[in-house]
This record gives sequence, structure tokens and C-alpha cells, in this order.
Amino acid sequence: MEKDSFMQWFSREIPQTLFPQIAAQVLFRCENCGECCRGEGYALVDEADVQEIARTLGIRPNQARDRFTDPDPGKNRGCRILKSIGPERSCCLLDQQAKMCKIYNHRPRICRTFPMINADTETEEIISFYSDCLGTAKFVKMLQEKRIDPQVQKEIESLTKQTERLQALQIMLFMWLRRMMGEIEEAEQICRITGVSLPPEESSFQKDCLAYFLMTMTTDGLDEYQYEG
Ligand code: SF4
Ligand code: SF4
Repeated sequence: MEKDSFMQWFSREIPQTLFPQIAAQVLFRCENCGECCRGEGYALVDEADVQEIARTLGIRPNQARDRFTDPDPGKNRGCRILKSIGPERSCCLLDQQAKMCKIYNHRPRICRTFPMINADTETEEIISFYSDCLGTAKFVKMLQEKRIDPQVQKEIESLTKQTERLQALQIMLFMWLRRMMGEIEEAEQICRITGVSLPPEESSFQKDCLAYFLMTMTTDGLDEYQYEG
């Protein structure tokens, strides 16, 4: 019964557009160019993010709040933004020399979902391919090669026919996202309720993610993509 209720909730509440986004994020590799950590935008953080920054740096939450955040100009409820510094408006947590986040493994959740998971429901684009992100450029190149690979075509064909495998894969993607957001207990609970677990071998999960992504998304616009970083 617990499983039935979960599955009802899962199909009612989780938008189908989220799954290819998660699959893309699984396949995406950040090249640590630091480009997304500076410039006009800013990273929105909530209280849980501030607590995590404080824990990581061994300081009190109010110190982390004062030192690293500013009020959110967009006035999102319970949110603040990370401070930007210098002429390039770099995030205050960016190590300028290494071009890496100082708290990469504990970075705010909005940074963990960049660039493939797009929470903005206003936009019509399911995936945004950022032209100044080196990781995205490599991701696009990989897709261009793999979409014509006969082995990948076979995987897509086989996945399309297997409804149960497809549903299990969507649950795995959701669990992967929960784990990536640091919600380990929730991911384990989903595993216990559904009996679905993430494959021990990352490569087989990645193979399924690629097939799922290419099966659900059109890649027609890929050839127009240009890296401008
Ligand atoms: S917290 Fe880290 S990953 Fe996020 S914007 Fe700042 S430097 Fe970049
Ligand atoms: S712009 Fe892309 S590759 Fe560069 S640090 Fe950000 S996510 Fe990584």
C-alpha cells in the first residue's frame, strides 16, 4: 500500500520534464572553468544552504549569513543571495586562482543542479545549453557523437519497449537527485518503499541515462550550439 501511494504521488507531482534534466545532469561533467560563478547572475540560498556553508567552514550560521550572503533582490521567501565581489562580480566562495568553488562538495543546492536542471517553470526550454559553459560544450559534443552510435540506438529501442524498466529508471533518477541534494535518508526511504535501487555500477546507470535522454529529447538544435567561453 505504501508503494501504491508513493507511486500515485510520484506520477501526480513530479513533472515528466524533470527526468531528462536529471539524466543530463548525471551525464554532465563540470570542467571547473568557474564561468558560472561570476558575472551578472547570483546564487540563491536558503537557510539550509547557509547552515551547510557554516558547518563546512566551521563557523556559526549567523557568521556565514553575514559574511557570505546579501538580501535577495527578488525577495524570494526565506532566501538570500551569495555575495558577489570584485569587478567580475565573482561569487565570494570562488577560489579565484584555482577557479574552483571553495566548498565544492558542500556547495548550495542551486549550484549542484546547474546547468541541466532548470527549476524555472516559466521557460519553455526543458534544457538550457549555456554557451559559456565548457562542460556544456563537451556535453553537446558527446551527444552529437552518441546519437548516431548504433549501440546507443539499440539501447534506446530496447528501453522504449520496457515500461517497467522505464518507470524504475525514473525512480532511480529521482533518487539520484535526492542524494545529490544531500537528502540521503529520503533517497533510502524511496529505495525501501519502491524496491528500486541505484545500480552499483555507475557506467550502467550512465548508459541508461544517455538512452533515456536521447529517447525523450529532440537533438535537432544541437548543431547550432556554439561555445563562446
Ligand atoms: S557557491 Fe561555489 S559553486 Fe556556487 S556560485 Fe559560489 S563559487 Fe560557484
Ligand atoms: S560554467 Fe560549466 S564547466 Fe564552468 S564551472 Fe560552471 S558548470 Fe562547470
